[in-house]
Amino acid sequence: MNKNSLVVDLHMHSTSSDGVLSPSALVDLNAENHVDIMALTDHDTLEGLSEAREAANRKGIRFINGVEMTASWEKKVLHIIALDFDPENLSLKQSLEDLKLQRLDRAERIAKKLQNIGIPGSLAGAQKYAREGLITRPHFAQFLVEAGKANDPQEAFDRYLGRKKKAWVATEWPPMEKVIDTIHHAGGLAVLAHPLRYKLTASWMYRLLTAFKKTGGEGMEVVCGYYTPIEIKTSVGFALRFDLMGSVGSDFHGHSLYNNQPGTCSPLPDSLTPIWSLFKDL
Ligand code: AMP
Ligand code: MN
Ligand code: MN
Ligand code: MN
Repeated sequence: MNKNSLVVDLHMHSTSSDGVLSPSALVDLNAENHVDIMALTDHDTLEGLSEAREAANRKGIRFINGVEMTASWEKKVLHIIALDFDPENLSLKQSLEDLKLQRLDRAERIAKKLQNIGIPGSLAGAQKYAREGLITRPHFAQFLVEAGKANDPQEAFDRYLGRKKKAWVATEWPPMEKVIDTIHHAGGLAVLAHPLRYKLTASWMYRLLTAFKKTGGEGMEVVCGYYTPIEIKTSVGFALRFDLMGSVGSDFHGHSLYNNQPGTCSPLPDSLTPIWSLFKDL
């Protein structure tokens, strides 16, 4: 079978991070959308994987372990998607434990900044939206809307949570190279998430992709839920230029910020090798 004709979606979120659907409800939606191969890629946590895998098995969807790991490179924050790894790998589990602590520490610092500008109670408020899942900035955004400090989550980012805004705090996420190594030690593949979202100049993009490739990263997202056709074309050019495999992901969260439905991205262009051709038992 031509692997490019499969409906593939390798980037989406559940309630284990900042998505709105439980892992099994997310799988149900993928089944309705006729997805053949899906990965759950919550931010920095594997919490939802087993529930999603069981649901996917029931629905006959091929399920790939995933996680969207937060990393830093040259003082920039990057997201690296790990795919098809051993979720029991100890060094991966340790890295995710460390990221969880960093997230908690960051959440406390964001809350303190908000408190200092007259917005109390945001830690508990954000945690309420995160429920038992990992706390993320979109949870703070939901709290800020609830508190009447922003009309919608985007405005909460634009005023408070975005880079260099009132409640922005810098965080030393693990270096990209270390994150890629950890993924490889766990037997997984490293895919650079949404490369065009980092607002890099062309020369920084070249530096990033050169470093990513040199460290052994296998692929990059070429088709994202929110990319325009021109952005997809640009991404194809980068993937070819840097000999990276192509990945496809809606980045579905189910809320107003990211609501591109699972399985509805354009297919990966034929000129690229799909990252899923490396999956262990496809
Ligand atoms: P975190 O990993 O907790 O910093 O949250 C990152 C998530 O916040 C991203 O995956 C997006 O869903 C959302 N996000 C980040 N920056 C922005 C922004 N400037 N505007 C809207 N949403 C954003
Ligand atoms: Mn997110
Ligand atoms: Mn991301
Ligand atoms: Mn994402």
